[in-house]
Amino acid sequence: MRATRAIIRLDAFRYNLRLVRSRVGSARKICVPVKADGYGHGAVPLAKTALEEGAEFLAVATADEGAELREAGITAPILLLSIPLPEEIPELIVDKLIPLAGDRDFVRELAATAEQGGEVLSVHLKVDTGMGRIGCPPESAAELAALIAGSKHLKLGGVATHLAVSDSLKQDDVAYTKEQLTRFGRAVEDIKKAGIDPGLVHTANTGALAFHEDAFFDMVRPGILLYGYAPAGAEQVLPVKPVMELVSQIMFIKQVKKGETVSYGRIWTADRDTTIATIPVGYGDGLPRRLSGDFQVRINDAWYPLVGRICMDQCMADLGPNTAIRRWDSVSFFGADALSAADLAAKLGTISYEITCGINKRVPRIYVDT
Ligand SMILES: *Cc1c(COP(=O)(O)O)cnc(C)c1O
Repeated sequence: MRATRAIIRLDAFRYNLRLVRSRVGSARKICVPVKADGYGHGAVPLAKTALEEGAEFLAVATADEGAELREAGITAPILLLSIPLPEEIPELIVDKLIPLAGDRDFVRELAATAEQGGEVLSVHLKVDTGMGRIGCPPESAAELAALIAGSKHLKLGGVATHLAVSDSLKQDDVAYTKEQLTRFGRAVEDIKKAGIDPGLVHTANTGALAFHEDAFFDMVRPGILLYGYAPAGAEQVLPVKPVMELVSQIMFIKQVKKGETVSYGRIWTADRDTTIATIPVGYGDGLPRRLSGDFQVRINDAWYPLVGRICMDQCMADLGPNTAIRRWDSVSFFGADALSAADLAAKLGTISYEITCGINKRVPRIYVDT
């Protein structure tokens, strides 16, 4: 196996899940989003660990992601968060995925396909209270709930909405979240008033889990929090631990003279005689090339700048003139002991999600559970 690996600490994931459990209590269900291959950590091992720890639901974005979990023998309920093509509906029925539906046409398609299979399909109604992505307007929630509950081959298993700015403590954002929750609460009331059991009511993503207890309802769906990243301002209440660490080893060491340049484009010139380490990690592994010239790696408990352009498969660190570091020594890019994926993301104007999801298939995932 190559030197570059993503260490996945299942013990940290378990720890994070226990923090979430203690926050929401045992009466509520926890739904663990494992979409995009478990935010890049590996959907199947993370899903299995989550279920061992007592999580009740999983969530995926595509029918294929759901099928992968079923093929691995996972029988827990799985929510399908995005809308599939009509031709994917038979697959989701076979795999007993629970679609989120937010329009009449899709509900009818689901009902027709479920009828052909002679099945009763659980569906969760998705209400758009201000995310502006998928879901019905709150005013039509009761009508759609009636359509689902009234269909012989569908069952209303739950009602959900998604929050757009729940991870922010800015006054406007908090007010917007409260407004979304008010709209959602009214939609759920409308459904109940129509004499329909809404099933599991759920909305809390990571931000809501951190900042909005009134959003917990019957089930929570925190994703990035479980992978070790709390929103800014919640680190104290939810001291989660990063699950992924990207590591590698030095493959080549050389002396470089003052005035010599390193890597493509010659953007870096040695201002003194120094030692350069070449490490087999590049943008082909998911280390963003835009970090060139603005990144430090950790080697033997000290920090060293990456210098020159990050290449597809390799990058270079400046170890300084007199180094005790040797070829094959370990290098940490982000995670436990190095910068966090959130620090990296901040440099790039993105979020930790994009960093962990971006660590490519070429990087083997090594699961550690102590
Ligand atoms: C991805 C997703 C989540 C989890 O979001 P986090 O910000 O990672 O907590 C919850 N609900 C829906 C509908 C999602 O798409």
